[in-house]
Amino acid sequence: MEVTNTLNLPRNIEKIYVPDSIDALRVLYDKLKSENISVSISSTGNNWGYGCASPVSNNGVHISLKALNKIIDFESEHGLVTVEPGVTYGMLSDYLISKGDEWIAPVHGGGPDCSVVGNALERGYGLTPNADHFAAVTHLEAILKDGSYYQGNLTKIGQARLDKLFKYGIGPYLDGIFTQSGVGIVTQMTIKLAPKPKYIEMFLFILESNKDLEACVEVIKELKKTIGSTLGGINLVNQERVLSMLIKYPEEKIKSGEILSSAELQELGKTFSIPSWTIVGGMYGEKSMVKVTKKILKKKFRKIKKRSVFYNSSNKKYFRLLSKFFPKVFNLDIKSFVEKMDGVYNILNGRPDRVALNLAYLKNLTKPNHVKLNPTDDNCGLIWYAPLVEMKPAVVSEYCQFIEESCRKFEYNSFITLTTVDDICFDSTIPILFNKDSAKDSKKAIDLYDYLLAEGAKRGFYPYRLNIKTQSELTFDNQFLLPNKVDENRYK
Ligand SMILES: Cc1cc2nc3c(=O)[nH]c(=O)nc-3n(C[C@H](O)[C@H](O)[C@H](O)COP(=O)(O)OP(=O)(O)OC[C@H]3O[C@@H](n4cnc5c(N)ncnc54)[C@H](O)[C@@H]3O)c2cc1C
Repeated sequence: MEVTNTLNLPRNIEKIYVPDSIDALRVLYDKLKSENISVSISSTGNNWGYGCASPVSNNGVHISLKALNKIIDFESEHGLVTVEPGVTYGMLSDYLISKGDEWIAPVHGGGPDCSVVGNALERGYGLTPNADHFAAVTHLEAILKDGSYYQGNLTKIGQARLDKLFKYGIGPYLDGIFTQSGVGIVTQMTIKLAPKPKYIEMFLFILESNKDLEACVEVIKELKKTIGSTLGGINLVNQERVLSMLIKYPEEKIKSGEILSSAELQELGKTFSIPSWTIVGGMYGEKSMVKVTKKILKKKFRKIKKRSVFYNSSNKKYFRLLSKFFPKVFNLDIKSFVEKMDGVYNILNGRPDRVALNLAYLKNLTKPNHVKLNPTDDNCGLIWYAPLVEMKPAVVSEYCQFIEESCRKFEYNSFITLTTVDDICFDSTIPILFNKDSAKDSKKAIDLYDYLLAEGAKRGFYPYRLNIKTQSELTFDNQFLLPNKVDENRYK
């Protein structure tokens, strides 16, 4: 049978199994191994833009763990939660709310149906205080390729409780080998959640001009270096990417494969009042701490910002009222803007939201009119290029120029987001969006991805995470993928 994905690289597999208990999974896996059948795994299989639920290569069978969706254990005192692979962000968030709403589910832009375990194994990240999802994992258990069962050393010597409390356990730290590897089947994972603070406020700074990008990187670096956990992850988003969330892409352009021209983008930018770059993030803590942080942010961004918006639990009702009575002011769609702000605010609060998922549908001519969006099932064309970018003004400028030039060369708009990983690195995400019904557009999308991967590598930009096509081609001494031409001293 053929399984599809948003990359338009269908794969053939013999069968999909959906075991409903760990015991059933172990029996099934033993049987498949004894018959020498190759097995691929997904938790919820929503790895959109990287491979979805498709295996790296053809043949073999697929095991979906979506029916293993028990929250095994929750310790409200420490915020430690142990989950099976099928537990989604939606399930975890609802569960935590039902238990008093004291802890934040580490959600991300992919919405409520993605797996807590699947995302952590891909080393995914979000904007909540536990931005690096694998970093928050304290314990996991897995079935190994030979059928044996992996547990940490502390668990093996009868200290299972300590094993969950302390990430590194004792002896060599091995949990990391299960990430981005396919080394085993992870059956459960314990995560240390971030506490939900008394107060969460979202900020939005809009840059005066493109020329301020480098100064903005400098400011973000300093803020991430000096302000502690009060400041969550920060997103730096270019105009085209913000517009992609607000506009309906012209149908004739989807059909013809044409892009939005610079003049059109300028016009849309004016209409929606979206300038070159927008900075978005959250502040977490006691109200007084957030107040101080807000003051620092305002001061630091004063010279480069054109406008700022702050959104919190108190003022959001005024924004809603405003959008109710004035849904449109001139050409500005206030209603849609407030809805988007609300969606992002939910995400910062650990409540998964589908607000960002619409992006995958930008070039989808048959966009379905339903709420449960699923880019694989809905025939969306999406490939992510997600490189790490050093947090230095000159490097970020060079990177953005590289993306813009490359996208222009392949006739694509460049949708750029840079997300802080810490105070030294951004993780950038470039969605390559295409009309999956067009063979020409699909090929162009893959060609652009391959170009970005190869040319980016020469400039020192390389993804933190790869899709099924690149995984099947990658060997770590492949000079095409990992050229040794990068001058490591360029920016020192
Ligand atoms: C609009 C949009 C926004 C997005 N935003 C984000 C974002 O902000 N951050 C982010 O990280 N991602 C984002 N994504 C990408 C992606 O959808 C998520 O990363 C998603 O969480 C991955 O799918 P999943 O959780 O269903 O994991 P799965 O697809 O189930 O798993 C991912 C991979 O991990 C491995 N795996 C899964 N489970 C197991 C297991 N039990 N044992 C061993 N190996 C396993 C498999 O190789 C599998 O292919 C976004 C996607 C879209 C379309």
